[in-house]
Amino acid sequence: MYNLDIETPKSLMEALTLKNKFKDGIQPLAGGTDVLVLVRNKLGKWGASPRLLNLTQIQELKFITENDGFIEIGPLTTHTQILESLIIKQYFPAFVKAVAYVGSPQIRNLGTIIGNICRASPAADSLPVLYARDAQIQIQTINNKKIIPIEEFITGPGQTVLPNNALVTKLIIPKLPNYIGDYTSIRQRIALSIVVVSVAIEAQFNQEKRRLEDIRISLGAVSPTIIRARKTEKLLMTEKLTFDLIMEAKTKVKTECVPITDIRSNKEYRQAMTSVLLGRFLDKLIRS
Ligand SMILES: Cc1cc2nc3c(=O)[nH]c(=O)nc-3n(C[C@H](O)[C@H](O)[C@H](O)COP(=O)(O)OP(=O)(O)OC[C@H]3O[C@@H](n4cnc5c(N)ncnc54)[C@H](O)[C@@H]3O)c2cc1C
Repeated sequence: MYNLDIETPKSLMEALTLKNKFKDGIQPLAGGTDVLVLVRNKLGKWGASPRLLNLTQIQELKFITENDGFIEIGPLTTHTQILESLIIKQYFPAFVKAVAYVGSPQIRNLGTIIGNICRASPAADSLPVLYARDAQIQIQTINNKKIIPIEEFITGPGQTVLPNNALVTKLIIPKLPNYIGDYTSIRQRIALSIVVVSVAIEAQFNQEKRRLEDIRISLGAVSPTIIRARKTEKLLMTEKLTFDLIMEAKTKVKTECVPITDIRSNKEYRQAMTSVLLGRFLDKLIRS
């Protein structure tokens, strides 16, 4: 039996006021697919009787919009809404691919993108594509708003820089026209299983389609947070993309990840598979 104390504000300002009042003593609740599991297992810092800040009734937090350069996503946007959004399908197909891996239809109907980000798991499916896009997070308190890169927002497994009086109120994603993006992962089975390794890329060729003008590579589940393989990115931009350069990149990327051995896999397999997944993307790129 759990004695949950739930506050249900109807506006963002009301929610921020409650967060400001209770600080660490109140836990934001969006879809609840992470929070309620932690509460049930008493793994959260709140123990068995937490005070929850139920955000689900705040209409102004439900949006997916676009302007010239960016897509903006509100905190109550679920994985299913991402999958169904024409804006996301048009400007960010790799995101659709990544989110389709999350849990099961039931989890995707309830779970939100911002919840996935705030959970800050190195195995989260939404994060690698967002790192490859250099997405940004809007953090808001009752009297302040700040936008920071996702890479600075997440600092470790389950850890973010979110102040205890603040909420995340927006995810901002650059559109990156003319880039080719993709995401893939290895997991023990397709549905309802956690990532063993994942890789996302965003790449743009020069005009003659010979050399990569820009490439961003992010790696999941091989480090305490998602990481960008910046040395491999740099290598791939130095000269014309060839099969020899791809082989070099596949070797280099192994040196950039520092995976652990755990219940789902071991360090050596994770390093090897990161290299294989990157190699497959680059092979597709060179043939495109
Ligand atoms: C059976 C099962 C399978 C799953 N499979 C996958 C999977 O395959 N891939 C994957 O990536 N994840 C998976 N998950 C994890 C989970 O579903 C996702 O992380 C989900 O997106 C979390 O969103 P939520 O809205 O449910 O978050 P909640 O549980 O409501 O919240 C998660 C965290 O975010 C915080 N939070 C939420 N909104 C805000 C806000 N606006 N401001 C500040 N803090 C906020 C909460 O306080 C909490 O710390 C799975 C979970 C379950 C139970």
